Amino acid sequence: MENRKELRTWLDDMKLDHPLVIAGPCSAETEAQVLNIAQQLKDTDVNYYRAGIWKPRTRPGNFEGVGALGLKWLQKVKAETGLKTATEVANRAHVELALEHDIDLLWIGARSTVSPFIVQEIADALKGTDKIVLVKNPVNPDLPLWLGAIERLASSNIKNLGVIHRGFSTYEKSKYRNNPEWQLAIELQTKFPDLPLICDPSHITGKRDMVFDVSQAALDLNFDGLMIETHFDPDNAWSDAAQQITPKALIQMTKDLKIRKETDSETEYNIKLNNLRAQIDVVDNQIIELLGKRMKVADGIGILKKEKNVAVLQSKRWNEILGKMVLEGEDKGLSEEFILKMFKAIHQESINHQEKIING
Ligand code: PEP
Ligand code: MN
Repeated sequence: MENRKELRTWLDDMKLDHPLVIAGPCSAETEAQVLNIAQQLKDTDVNYYRAGIWKPRTRPGNFEGVGALGLKWLQKVKAETGLKTATEVANRAHVELALEHDIDLLWIGARSTVSPFIVQEIADALKGTDKIVLVKNPVNPDLPLWLGAIERLASSNIKNLGVIHRGFSTYEKSKYRNNPEWQLAIELQTKFPDLPLICDPSHITGKRDMVFDVSQAALDLNFDGLMIETHFDPDNAWSDAAQQITPKALIQMTKDLKIRKETDSETEYNIKLNNLRAQIDVVDNQIIELLGKRMKVADGIGILKKEKNVAVLQSKRWNEILGKMVLEGEDKGLSEEFILKMFKAIHQESINHQEKIING
């Protein structure tokens, strides 16, 4: 990774010359596993070593973590490699044990952020701490819930705060394990530009071969760091096997990721431009996604019309849609000419689809 100088708060104090990297296994499994991975991440760009000790599992019966025993292994990691340590806490007892074992960074998991009771309990237990506390987004795409958790921690006088974007659950299946909904992270970044924003591409993608691209997208959106699940034998990991990458792959990734240089007078301009372009890419993808959805609905109408032997073109309905869209467009600063052109093209595509169905 190349130079990067946009630093703030606790991140500022770290004086990093690259985005923050948190890496390590999804779960601590055995002492040997924890130490082996840590040794491979020593003297690399990795700043914090993560390992889940208490694992919140969606369904019972899966590996639920080794518990407090694993905290001793993390202490050993720090003693043997100098890597700082990070783990997830989900209640008061976890917080107390993590603090006793001098864990440097604690994060609140997505399943905890959804619960104001749990977040408040954690905030009370952490009151006044100078440890770094990161809040993962809630599993559901609800920005106020995410902000509420941050506010509860801030009210407990926890100063070294940050957030982790790990994507959101959706009912509809997509290529992601958790849909990124980048616009939510962008909104949070716009509201709180000083709050360090870390991306967790492992839980967003759920698949190791997608981790690089999502990491690059996050850096293009000006994220401050990455949390990446790393295991020496990913396929045999006790949790999240499909998304973990090897330490070797992680080290290569940190070399291949492109980070904006901040060396010339054009820097500010370039950062802003890249950020806006990344936002445009996000919106363009959403447009395509929505158009695809619209065509699927049009196909459904085509099937109905075929059954009833009704003509494809229903001009009364079409004129109503156009009139409504011209008004809506005006409201958003879009010209009538543009709306007409765009909807005619969309409409034509729908007709083509339906004709194929009816004549097919
Ligand atoms: C994790 O980081 O291993 C984890 C459980 O993540 P999340 O809370 O994002 O599901
Ligand atoms: Mn995991």
